Amino acid sequence: MPSPSCPCGSDKSYALCCQPLHQQKQHATEPEQLMRSRYCAFVKGEFNYLIATHHAEHLQGLTAAELAQSPEVNWLGLEVMASTKDLSNNAAKVSFKAWYLDKGQLDAIFENSEFIFEQGQWFYSQGQQFTTKPPERNSPCICHSGKKFKHCCMKLVR
Ligand SMILES: [Zn+2]
Ligand SMILES: [Zn+2]
Repeated sequence: MPSPSCPCGSDKSYALCCQPLHQQKQHATEPEQLMRSRYCAFVKGEFNYLIATHHAEHLQGLTAAELAQSPEVNWLGLEVMASTKDLSNNAAKVSFKAWYLDKGQLDAIFENSEFIFEQGQWFYSQGQQFTTKPPERNSPCICHSGKKFKHCCMKLVR
């Protein structure tokens, strides 16, 4: 049986993709990789990793325990829309949509996240959130199954 692909949407298995980052055996070398691993940490409940990769000056008192108390949703998939790096300022931006079902309702976190490179490591600093429309019925499904949305995750929406 082939191992299921990593929740971040890569074609690698979790063990070869986000898990070594979550276990802090490796650091994300690219801001987009960090963003994907942070999405995956939400899926896997790796809240300590979310705190460790959130820049300390931007945490505003947020703790892993607090994250663990956030309502559980059914994460469906991640779409990275754009990713830019400005190495002269040690800064990067990644915009993405993280799709989820909350009590049968489809929604997404649509965010333009900012990242800071410091002491050889990327950190999430802050993000600006937007609202988004549901995917088109005939577009490729948000969960990267290769099926059309209407034949896949749309069936989960109540
Ligand atoms: Zn991954
Ligand atoms: Zn799907």
